[in-house]
Amino acid sequence: FNRRAPDYLAGLNPEQREAVETTEGPLLVLAGAGTGKTRVLTTRIAHILSQRLAWGSQILAVTFTNKAANEMKKRIHELVPSLDGLPWMGTFHSISARILRHHAELVDLKPSFTILDTDDQIRLIKQLLEADNIDEKRWPARQFAGILDAWKNRGWLPKDVPSSESAYFANGRGGKLYADYQARLKALNAADFGDLLLECIRLFRENPEVLAEYHRKFKYMLVDEYQDSNTAQYLWLRLLAQGKPAPEANICVVGDDDQSIYGWRGAEVDNILRFETDFPGARVIKLERNYRSTANILKAASTLIAFNEGRLGKTLHTDTAEGGEMVTVTSVWDSEEEARHVGEEIEQYQRAGESLNSMAILVRASFQMREFEERFITLGLNYRVIGGPRFYERREIRDALAYLRLVAQPADDLAFERIVNVPKRGIGDSTVKVLLETARHQNVPLLAATRMLVETEELKPKQRTTLRELVMQFDAWAARLEAVPHYEVAEQILDESGYTGMWQADKAPDSPGRLENLKELVRSMEEFETLGGFLEHISLVMDRDSGEAEDAVSIMTLHSAKGLEFDTVFLPGWEEGLFPHQRSLDESGRAGLEEERRLAYVGITRGRRRVRLSMAQNRRIHGLWQSAIPSRFLDELPPDVVEVSDTGSSYGGYGYGGGATSRFNKADPFESVYETPGWQRARANQASRRGGGPLTIEGELVARSVDLGGQSSHFALGER
Ligand code: ATP
Ligand code: MG
Repeated sequence: FNRRAPDYLAGLNPEQREAVETTEGPLLVLAGAGTGKTRVLTTRIAHILSQRLAWGSQILAVTFTNKAANEMKKRIHELVPSLDGLPWMGTFHSISARILRHHAELVDLKPSFTILDTDDQIRLIKQLLEADNIDEKRWPARQFAGILDAWKNRGWLPKDVPSSESAYFANGRGGKLYADYQARLKALNAADFGDLLLECIRLFRENPEVLAEYHRKFKYMLVDEYQDSNTAQYLWLRLLAQGKPAPEANICVVGDDDQSIYGWRGAEVDNILRFETDFPGARVIKLERNYRSTANILKAASTLIAFNEGRLGKTLHTDTAEGGEMVTVTSVWDSEEEARHVGEEIEQYQRAGESLNSMAILVRASFQMREFEERFITLGLNYRVIGGPRFYERREIRDALAYLRLVAQPADDLAFERIVNVPKRGIGDSTVKVLLETARHQNVPLLAATRMLVETEELKPKQRTTLRELVMQFDAWAARLEAVPHYEVAEQILDESGYTGMWQADKAPDSPGRLENLKELVRSMEEFETLGGFLEHISLVMDRDSGEAEDAVSIMTLHSAKGLEFDTVFLPGWEEGLFPHQRSLDESGRAGLEEERRLAYVGITRGRRRVRLSMAQNRRIHGLWQSAIPSRFLDELPPDVVEVSDTGSSYGGYGYGGGATSRFNKADPFESVYETPGWQRARANQASRRGGGPLTIEGELVARSVDLGGQSSHFALGER
């Protein structure tokens, strides 16, 4: 007899349903954004449970963030209310940590081992460098931390590092340092982030009986966002999947090669291509219907990503007949106007009854957040920053502010304590204690106490010299404020104190972003008359209640937006150099550009109903206006679904609008024809602002602008 399909299957399309019901054997779901991959995974778990194919604890589900795991748990509870035993759900790291705690002794740890953060890790490396007489100035500890991370992402234990790789750092001593570092970790009963996976792999390899235990335990394995897994994660999965012959392994991975955006952190999109080779006979299911976005959004995203080469190629369509709202591109004067403009639109949607939760701003670089945060604070609009602290709560910003506060208010002891040894100056806790005692006895602020102490014999000579120099620096900075604009002094403070240098030497992946944030901080100071005025403003901004509002606009980087969706998505800063980001282009060339384009694809496909792009025509850097060139990605959008406008302030009030009808011809830029307003006009505008001069893109002369007057202005093509 024919049993009615369970409710949870009812809403699925045939391919999704097949992916859910193919529980046995390897399965790869390869599909574009918004096609229900994550939904398939969740429903698959519900299906396995309700068909009693396994207990909850026999299912292993890997998600990209812990937040995603929690959401999945919630969904599964809704689908299968009476659940006995929760699946093992979490990130590769959280699941690995759980396994390692069970078997810590086998990898020379105790179950209570601590997980080191980056700072601890750096401190440890420094000690090792010192012990080996390696000059830390020449071979910065942070650089080695970055190298270690890359090695660990590739699944290399100290013995596995090829000599070609270890040759560089400290003239060939990298391999030994790695081994020493691991030994130190064991002595401290600690593991770093990379170890969680790596030690788990070692555990499995060296202890077949333990691996066999997990083979018996996990009957089903599922992995979301597989395109962003790195080699170590891949090895980890392969080991766990070996409980059965490959063609019978119950492993299901879902992913989208077009959304691979962590190459810079060692993710290997090839893992997804290898799946069919590793698991012969794997079923491959493609999902083609997008349930998330309107047809216009989808067309914009698909057209853009088609500029990438080396794609697996997938189709995406939606069944909704209407295109929905146009994707808009707004050209604004600068980032301040961009924030104002976005703020106005949000308020307008809010008045029309839309919730703030349904809106998000996705930025390429975290420094872009500041302008939005400030604007929203002014407007009293609730927002939350996802995947990181708010701008003014970032570590580098707090450090920089501490320097500035101490210059403006020498009695600010908290600021003093924060920076006295940042960057590291060899002022340890014991020295600080002496300073604190003197300050208390003499009843003076710490800086004043330091000033007294450096004239006595109480401190060791080395510390005394260092502190004397520091006090002199603070005096010099304060004096300079009389003559030099405060934002210039701020920049000098960060340079001369060694603070900027500290991050420049830091090879961790997030340090370039921190340097950008520092630049943005200095830039933002230009809007204030005095340092005092600026600091006053900051304390008001920071004082804001940071309690989580129920309804709030989300602000986050494109990288942390993966897998999420919002009715309205704002994508600001589509300018060359920012997006695509110059660093990716410089470091990885064509591959870097393609990863940037995938990031753009991820951004656009987060939108359900509305996608609003914007670009600032100008960025103010070091007090100078620089014109920005619109992102090449804007040129790659299909004109028929894109509406271009500008806020008018830059064109003396002309009203421009309408779609672009021409394209920039990359193969032969001189054959490009520009005849429409909009963002391309912005280019014309920039060229004409420079006195009708030539316009260059990537150093190549591409066009000259000619003002034809009236509503349209053309680019005349340059001579070859
Ligand atoms: P991404 O690649 O961005 O991670 P995805 O492929 O994981 O996307 P989901 O997030 O699972 O896609 O689904 C996108 C949206 O479409 C969700 O809101 C989901 O609930 C909805 N959806 C998926 N399948 C269906 C369906 N069969 N019927 C109705 N809605 C669906
Ligand atoms: Mg998903």
